[in-house]
Order: sequence, then structure tokens, then C-alpha cells
Amino acid sequence: MSIIQDIDKSFVANTYARFPVEIVSGKGSVVYDTDNKKYIDMGSGIGVTSFGIADDKWAEAVSSQLMKVQHMSNLYYTEPCGKLAKILCEKTGMKKVFFSNSGAEANECAIKIARKYASEKKGADCFTIVTLKNSFHGRTLTTLAATGQDHYHELFQPLTPGFCHIEAGNITGLEELAANTKLAAIMIECIQGEGGVIPLEADFVKALADFAEKNDILLMVDEVQTGNGRTGELYAYMNYGITPDVVTTAKGIGGGLPIGAVLFSEKVENVLGFGDHGSTFGGNPVCCAGAVSILERIDDALLAEVKEKSGYLFDTFAGAKGIEDVSGMGLMIGLKTVMPAKDVVTACMEKGVLCLTAKDKVRLLPALNIPMEVLVEAAEIIKSVCAE
Ligand SMILES: *Cc1c(COP(=O)(O)O)cnc(C)c1O
Repeated sequence: MSIIQDIDKSFVANTYARFPVEIVSGKGSVVYDTDNKKYIDMGSGIGVTSFGIADDKWAEAVSSQLMKVQHMSNLYYTEPCGKLAKILCEKTGMKKVFFSNSGAEANECAIKIARKYASEKKGADCFTIVTLKNSFHGRTLTTLAATGQDHYHELFQPLTPGFCHIEAGNITGLEELAANTKLAAIMIECIQGEGGVIPLEADFVKALADFAEKNDILLMVDEVQTGNGRTGELYAYMNYGITPDVVTTAKGIGGGLPIGAVLFSEKVENVLGFGDHGSTFGGNPVCCAGAVSILERIDDALLAEVKEKSGYLFDTFAGAKGIEDVSGMGLMIGLKTVMPAKDVVTACMEKGVLCLTAKDKVRLLPALNIPMEVLVEAAEIIKSVCAE
């Protein structure tokens, strides 16, 4: 084992099972380890490096802001923060943005919006938020409570109260729940990412949105993983023809720096007032400058490219030997493989392709701008590994 791997094992908390690989450099969708071995990056830091490693335009935006002002606190205005909020609102029709530093924190803010909105409108006993079984909303105690997977909960009781989980597709379950519990909000991932890259049925999402609208329950969409061009639309909810009341995002929006965002619709734009929420680093000018450069480039041409590459991946993997199912949307792809997903990922790594898992699936989240020939090379390697 290398010295740095030794040090890491000794001094970094044991929360991650790392592969015995140390990445030292890269460009775009290609990275190199300490032995100068080349890998094609099909995970992009779990959907974070939207335009790949050390992308020139992103690096220029970030470094030029870094040399101007790296941080000022939210007591003062800085240009990138306002600029980014304006772009997000213009591209989505939402009215206001709160910036956090991560996906979990963005969801915490959404949950606070729901609590305040519902208690002011319907009374203090209206606070329950419905999420889906098999969902993932983060690692803080409250977003863990929102996460509909028991195995994340067991060791950390008591969690924040006020969450109920229904099975995806079960609209009757929601109606029954609403009959005896006052509901503040429904929070969904349009495609369950950590849960195994499982898109929700369009009819179910539409029914949820109608139910929420009719009963003045907030519809909150967690776009932490699915957002920012990942599914071939700017946000995944746009594939479903719904209008959420609150949208949260993080991961890919920053292109590699920590930033999350909560988008408020007109209905909730003024729910949070002075002192109701805050974040020391939220809206950090360097992170926002990077995010501006990312969002400005997620245009129709790029989204069309994402859809085209997605089509290629579905065509390549559907019916391939050792692959039982292909799920997902855009460049968010899940492969149900005959071989255990972990073994596929390990074998791919040996052959120079970095992939992710999500539950029992192999998960692919390449950079949105991965060149077609690099994508083809990676897909052929993955296919050959699965066929073994
Ligand atoms: C990754 C993820 C989160 C948590 O984001 P962090 O930045 O790790 O806090 C929340 N929701 C979804 C859907 C995610 O994929």
C-alpha cells in the first residue's frame, strides 16, 4: 500500500470503503493514478464534475473569482451569488434561490420551508412530510429521516419526527395517509439514484402533483443527483411536465465545488424571512462563479447531446450478454448485471474504467460533455466485463 493510502487509513474516519487507487490528475473524462495508469471516468465524482476534470472554462471562472474575492459572508453582496440565482430562476420559472453547501443541506432548507408554510397556513399540527420508500435524501439526521430506507436509520435513533414513507406508485397509500394525518409536503426524486437508478412512473408523478395541488400540500423535488442536465433536461421534473413548489439541487451544479441550491416557486417565495435560515459558506462567490459557468453551458445543444449519448448507451447495453436490465434517463444509467455489481466495478477498474454502484446495480454518471469516442471505449469495456 502506498504511503498516502496508509496515512488515510490511519487518520481519516472509517466511513468510506475506498478502492486502492489514488487519482492524481486528469482532464475531461480521463484521470490518472499514481502509476500513471489511465482511467475513463464514468462516475464523475458521483455526478459532480458535470464538464469533467479540470475543465478549462470552469477552471477559468473559478480561479479568476478566487483571485478577486474568495469569501465575504452573507452580510454583503457579491456578484456571482446574485448572478447564479438569476440564471436559475430564468431557466426554471422559479422565483427565489437559497444557497447551501451540499444536497443534504438543501433538503434541510426545503423541509424548513414546508414546516413553516404548513404551520402558518394549516396550523402547528400540520408538519408531516411524505417521501418514498427506497428514496435517498441525505445523511443529516433530518434528511436520514426523510430517506425511505430502514437500513440507514437503525443505528441513529431517534431521528427527526414528522416523516412518512409510501411505496412509489401507490397513490391510494397517499390518499389513505392524508385521510388521518395532516400533510405538509411530498418530497420525491424523479429518478431514485442511490436506490438503484429507478425512474418514477409518469402517471404516478402526475397523480402526486395533482393531489398536492388540490390539497395545498407542497410538492418538493430532490434534484440533487438528477439535476443540471443529467437526465437530458435541465431538471428531471421537466421530463414529467410537472411544476414543483420547491426544487433542491447540488452535486452537478457546482462542477466540482461544494454548493447546493433550493429553488422557491411563487407560492413559497416569501415563506422564509430574515433570520429564518442561513449558512456561513452558502452562496460562496468561488462556488457560485463555477456554477454560473456550468449552468450557462447547459443549453439546448448540450441537452440534445446528452440525449443522443443516452440513446447510444441504452442501445449498447440493452440485451447485451450479462446485462439483464438497463434503467435511468439521460446520462444517469443503471445496469442490472448477472455478475454482482461490485465485481463488475472492480473488473472495469482493472481495465481502466471507473464506474459506480447503486444498490445491486452498476451506475453510470459520466460527464455531460464526455466525447463520444471516449464513451464508446468505456461502454465496450463495460460490456466485455459483463459478458465474462
Ligand atoms: C447525493 C444526494 C443527496 C445528498 O447530497 P450531499 O451533497 O451528499 O449532502 C441528497 N439527495 C439525493 C437525491 C442525492 O443523490
